Amino acid sequence: MQANPIKNIVIVGGGTAGWMTAAALVNKLPKTRYCITLVESDAIGTVGVGESTLPHISQFNASLGINENDFIRATKATIKLGIQFKDWANIGDIYMHPFSETGHVTQGIDFHHYWLKSQTMGDTTTLDEYSVAAMAAKAKRFAPPNKNRESMLAAYNYSYHIDATAYAKYLRDYAEHKGTKRIEGKITTVNLKSDNGYIESVTLANGEKVSADLFVDCSGFSALLIDKSLQVPFIDWSHWLPTDSAVVVQSERDIDLNPYTIATARSAGWQWQIPIQHRMGNGHVYASQYMSDQAALDILMTTLPGKATTEPRVLRFKAGCRKKTCHKNCVAIGLSSGFLEPLESTSIFLIQMGINKLIEYFPDQHFHQAGIDQYNQSMSYFYDQIRNFIILHYHATNRNDSEFWNYCRTMSIPDDLSRLMTLFKECGRVDRTQFGIWSAVCIGQGLIPEQYDSRIDSLDYQQVKGFMTNYRTQVQRAVDTLPPVEMFIQNVMKQ
Ligand SMILES: Cc1cc2nc3c(=O)[nH]c(=O)nc-3n(C[C@H](O)[C@H](O)[C@H](O)COP(=O)(O)OP(=O)(O)OC[C@H]3O[C@@H](n4cnc5c(N)ncnc54)[C@H](O)[C@@H]3O)c2cc1C
Repeated sequence: MQANPIKNIVIVGGGTAGWMTAAALVNKLPKTRYCITLVESDAIGTVGVGESTLPHISQFNASLGINENDFIRATKATIKLGIQFKDWANIGDIYMHPFSETGHVTQGIDFHHYWLKSQTMGDTTTLDEYSVAAMAAKAKRFAPPNKNRESMLAAYNYSYHIDATAYAKYLRDYAEHKGTKRIEGKITTVNLKSDNGYIESVTLANGEKVSADLFVDCSGFSALLIDKSLQVPFIDWSHWLPTDSAVVVQSERDIDLNPYTIATARSAGWQWQIPIQHRMGNGHVYASQYMSDQAALDILMTTLPGKATTEPRVLRFKAGCRKKTCHKNCVAIGLSSGFLEPLESTSIFLIQMGINKLIEYFPDQHFHQAGIDQYNQSMSYFYDQIRNFIILHYHATNRNDSEFWNYCRTMSIPDDLSRLMTLFKECGRVDRTQFGIWSAVCIGQGLIPEQYDSRIDSLDYQQVKGFMTNYRTQVQRAVDTLPPVEMFIQNVMKQ
């Protein structure tokens, strides 16, 4: 059989998902053979949130040849070294999920076992004290990691808080400059081929018809192609992730620049504070079954870190994902493919994975089913893993102060998550093939292993104590050499 390349690609939607996809495809595919068109509606607009990211975004930007400083300036970005969780396991608890290892594996034993043993010997240090990213975050200090792998300052990662609208605009400039055609207009009809049900074209409100071989659905929650047209079912996970609403508002930034996102648990959900250079992004995610919009708004507005600068708005969503994110000649990327609520800032990461897999299994006119199935399996894997990771935050808690927390604490959870939690609880072990069941988060959530690795008892405790003290001291010394994050950003802006 002869290869039969596709030629025309239409991306529906110009939010973060649409423009990330356009930028990546136009960068990877030869201009002479592929024609990329993006259709977006100014009247509909974008969801306008999505400001906290994971470290993988740097790889995405680098693959496009984007200069980091240029990106920071264009998106008014600040640095993120992790997420600070407040009041999750118990009211009053605080822990950091840092973008770095906590301690390091010694003699084949994960560091948290050493820490657990030392706790039984009366040690009162926190896990954070063994993490460069956690301690730098708390000290509000930052410099890019040292390239020398031996250095303590090589042992962390970072990402950004960004202005999401500015990022989409930045990628739009990039993609248009490289040849992506943009059409502004509202799609009113999706036209299917009569013989095989593939998408043939979309029709705009002005009557214009746009045809393509491959369609990428980046139309956000409306899921115009994958849902409304191809009717791929949605797998509803709201019984595990019952938050379904968020009230969001921007405010002045009257506080110092924190190089971390703050996620504070509330009685029916949680609240975020995300600092970017010129303002704060704020939101309160809640389960409408347990809290009214007005009550959620009141909590948000009385805890803002500065004067509100926009009108608050309420967003609705449902946790879950499409049964298939690729079907026939359509791939759904972004909110059209699913949403797992923003707790661990995983949506832009999922967009990136969707794009990577699209490039990896890029179709031709045959749209081989095996390639489509492989794409779907890969994306299901990411969705399932991230779903479990987020459920962990709600389920592993001692909170019993509201109906919402009583539900989350006692609900049944997916079997694979239950297995991982038992593994950690009974013997402190983690399954490294699974995303996100990290010791810092498990222990922060109050999931404390019942025993440490017994091999530690064969080591001299004074030596173990010495090694831990030394590690902690090295972390602190390394962090003390870093400049304030505010200074790092100012320097980038001056260049
Ligand atoms: C409350 C909340 C907080 C979040 N926080 C984070 C976070 O911190 N980190 C993170 O990674 N992600 C976060 N997300 C997710 C993130 O916002 C999205 O993943 C990201 O913005 C991508 O959205 P999108 O491009 O899929 O959809 P949208 O931004 O909604 O874009 C949809 C596009 O489709 C177009 N469109 C729709 N219908 C039509 C039509 N009929 N005709 C033409 N065009 C059409 C629209 O005009 C728009 O251009 C959050 C989401 C929510 C709801």
